[in-house]
Amino acid sequence: MRNIMWTIFFVLTLGLTAADKPNIIWIFSDDHSYQTIGAYGGRLAHLNNSPNIDSLAKEGMIFNRCYVGNSICAPARATLLTGKHSHKNGKFDNRDPFNHDQQQFQKLLQKSGYQTAMIGKIHLHGKMQGFDYWEVLPGQGKYYDPDFVTEEGKTSYKGYVTDIITDKAIDWLDKKRDKNKPFMCMIHQKAPHRNWQPAQRHMELYEDIEIPEPANLFDDYSNRATPSATQDMSLEKTMRMKQDLKTDPSLDNKRSKDFYANPLTGKALVKWKYQQYLKDFMRCTKAVDENVGRVLEYLKESGLEKNTIVMYSSDQGFYMGEHGWFDKRMMYEESYRTPFLVKWPGTIKPGSVNTDLVQNIDFAPTFLDICGVEIPADMDGVSVVPLLKGEKPADWRKHLYYTYYEYPAVHSVRRHEGVSGKRYKLIRYYGPDVENGEEWELFDLKTDPGEMNSQYSNPEYASVVAELKKELINMRKKYQLPTEGPDALYKIVPRKKKPKKK
Ligand code: CA
Repeated sequence: MRNIMWTIFFVLTLGLTAADKPNIIWIFSDDHSYQTIGAYGGRLAHLNNSPNIDSLAKEGMIFNRCYVGNSICAPARATLLTGKHSHKNGKFDNRDPFNHDQQQFQKLLQKSGYQTAMIGKIHLHGKMQGFDYWEVLPGQGKYYDPDFVTEEGKTSYKGYVTDIITDKAIDWLDKKRDKNKPFMCMIHQKAPHRNWQPAQRHMELYEDIEIPEPANLFDDYSNRATPSATQDMSLEKTMRMKQDLKTDPSLDNKRSKDFYANPLTGKALVKWKYQQYLKDFMRCTKAVDENVGRVLEYLKESGLEKNTIVMYSSDQGFYMGEHGWFDKRMMYEESYRTPFLVKWPGTIKPGSVNTDLVQNIDFAPTFLDICGVEIPADMDGVSVVPLLKGEKPADWRKHLYYTYYEYPAVHSVRRHEGVSGKRYKLIRYYGPDVENGEEWELFDLKTDPGEMNSQYSNPEYASVVAELKKELINMRKKYQLPTEGPDALYKIVPRKKKPKKK
């Protein structure tokens, strides 16, 4: 009798557990700035570029202070899979190989009985591990008629990359997966990565609209350390007419004809570049948003909606002309911050806004926590599940740590590290081509949200600087980075290549 009772008990509990395991859809884009997501507000919100992504905020939670640990593509993806800062997973910059043999959250999910799929752009060379199904773009991939790589090899497809990635994901969800198991499906868009090539259907979108400029489009980089001036990612000097703006006498398109009929120079040229750049970028993000809508629609139709968590994020933020820039890398807000929105029916209170400090090291532990898998102690991040449930742990972090290593390299952004709290941000630039080998900045985001004036040398902020310097060392200890001497970080990623003289 007792044995029968136990059997019934186990069947009931195990049966319940399997049915209750939530599915996760993780939609991740490449370089999607929060400034172009309506739910984040700001000067571009009225353009209504992202109604479907915005719906995740309406029906779920938007994170207003989600940051990355190293604002550059491939390292951010390594952090996504490992839950670790770059120095722990070995992917410091876009050029390093990624060690696929290391621990990654999807391997742990797979072991626990989840089905795992990765579709789209991962930008980590080598064979993916821990995915039951993977179909990825080789390297950066192409916008039009892209190739995809699977276990079996490479195949070409006709059409627009954002649509095709979504087709493949829906096909996997609908036909290819084992429907007796819970799943984690990662849909990774290539868009809106440079050079911002829109779908044919969006070529005219925003054509007759004047896109509002940021107040600091013509930043003169005064009152800051030298790296804000010595970067090479400005609309004025770096953005290319042909490759980026699709404007050249050899091209047969309206933009080229209009431009060369009345060529512009100086500030007028920067303003014109800004308009074309923003329009192409937002045409690309429009397609991303439409495809988020397709996924949400599929979940509804298939009956999966109720038990499926949908998360949206990007590998980092991006400059939409702020400081005169495009690209990322710097610890300034626009590229340090990244969008993060989560819909979890029945668990997240609709319309929730979270302002706690969250970082991309937290994504992997969060996935594991949601799926009831133990979080390995060596992951740097922590689960945000309590935040999703509307609880705020009393000991939630007060500061975040940041590092950027890819120098000398394209865009010439100097190596730096920093620590930020909700109000203040301390940045330390170091290594060659930084004045005296080390420069500092302190920003007060409350009085200077555009980060136009470093308060590092202002005596009124001396105690803040002292406190954050202490915190910087605490962070290095916490994440097991060397703490001795100004060169300590440089030594962990030495590079022999000299930067090109500009
Ligand atoms: Ca990126």
